[in-house]
Amino acid sequence: MLNIVIFGPPGAGKGTQSQNLIDTYHLAHISTGDVFRAHIKNETDLGKKVKELLANGVLVPDSITISMLEEEVKKNPEAKGFIFDGFPRTVPQAEALDAFLTKIGTAISVVVALDVDQDELKRRIAERKKIENRADDAEDKLLKRIDEYFTKTVHVLPYYKNQGKLHSINGIGKVEDIFASIAKAVNTVK
Ligand code: ADP
Repeated sequence: MLNIVIFGPPGAGKGTQSQNLIDTYHLAHISTGDVFRAHIKNETDLGKKVKELLANGVLVPDSITISMLEEEVKKNPEAKGFIFDGFPRTVPQAEALDAFLTKIGTAISVVVALDVDQDELKRRIAERKKIENRADDAEDKLLKRIDEYFTKTVHVLPYYKNQGKLHSINGIGKVEDIFASIAKAVNTVK
């Protein structure tokens, strides 16, 4: 199996590059943000629980996120591998993912971390807001999401660096050039 974690702060281009990864490697894509938003839209019990958290740019508790992620993986028993987009966002999530993948006889192959500075992130999200109108793209919520990233999520990087799986990619430039760098990193483990 080829299992890729695509990693980066809000606005780094995870969604865009995930689509390129899907097209190239034909893997199942799990975006925890998308799954949460679908639950909210469908007004499920989980959706009701997490609605406020998402609207405010706060991370959902690990226990909820981890069990949801495991459910999503189990829904794809035929997959040749997975693209994990927006997960793991904390070290306990990274540990839980490793334990879970070991249990089902696989592992993370590679972690692609998109590197984008804060000014560029804010510029991109301001643009996205005009198109998608996501509640959590509002200025104060965005600052909270960036803060969550730099206090909690950033610690996931050394976790994977210690495993020798981390590839940092410059996330500024043309989408196709960035993807070429990503594909090069993925192809080292294929
Ligand atoms: P972005 O990367 O642009 O911040 P996402 O769509 O990935 O947006 O996530 C939106 C929100 O969903 C997050 O701010 C958080 O509330 C919740 N979320 C997504 N993934 C996770 C996760 N792995 N752990 C906790 N909360 C998450």
